[in-house]
Amino acid sequence: MADNSIMQDLLALSRQLGDPERQWAILGEGNTSARVDDETFYVKASGSQLGKLMEQNVTHVRFAPILEALHDSRDYNDAQIKDLLYSSCVHNEKGLRPSTETVFHAFLLSLPDVNFVGHTHVISINGLMCSAHGWQAVKSGGRMFPDEIVVCGVAPCCVPYVDPGIPLARALRRAVLEYQDRHGMRPKAIYMQNHGFTALARTAQEVENIHLMADKAAQIMLGAMACGGPAFLTTENVDRIFSRPDEHYRQRALGIKEDRPADGT
Ligand SMILES: [Zn+2]
Repeated sequence: MADNSIMQDLLALSRQLGDPERQWAILGEGNTSARVDDETFYVKASGSQLGKLMEQNVTHVRFAPILEALHDSRDYNDAQIKDLLYSSCVHNEKGLRPSTETVFHAFLLSLPDVNFVGHTHVISINGLMCSAHGWQAVKSGGRMFPDEIVVCGVAPCCVPYVDPGIPLARALRRAVLEYQDRHGMRPKAIYMQNHGFTALARTAQEVENIHLMADKAAQIMLGAMACGGPAFLTTENVDRIFSRPDEHYRQRALGIKEDRPADGT
């Protein structure tokens, strides 16, 4: 894929996630990113508006210095983070600062099969993230209905509240690695306590699809909590849906799964 089509997909995704009617991200909220090649990625500039994102609001950043900061155990003060973000840009004639959340974007884009990441503050999801019982219900890891499994994966990946920036990126990395150990695959949907939501995917369209389904699931969870609490599917039910050949067909149709040789799955 040429850089330009990656940029166009990123801008289209950003405008979808920042659509004012959805209120998933207002004002300067939310950020998006896309993997350009093994060395670099695009990420929204700090302070720009997701719903109106233009090419001139996107920064081009190198993975190496950002991932180095993620993996070392240094404490970075605000001035050092600012320097790190500016100095990691490929070229930055306009003097844009990459988003504060660039570090977790770099980590997620370095996972296999992840080319696009979208982070937002969806109202229904944050209703759960910012309440005692809602956060616990999501964190319990249950799934409520089959389409949630098909689009958002077998379980949510949950990150407890920490300071945005490098502390959040490190906590998010820990949560993703634990998820991979437990489920044997990477997550598609990440829930951040008192903060928001992040979708990671192979395509820009899939990042939007995960948002649409996670928004619906959060509204269902809020309804379920008002009616005595969610009735989760059993682990056997979840595994069955995830492994059904017809569900794999639907995942392929939605662009979630890559076409595979005809092996019945
Ligand atoms: Zn945020």
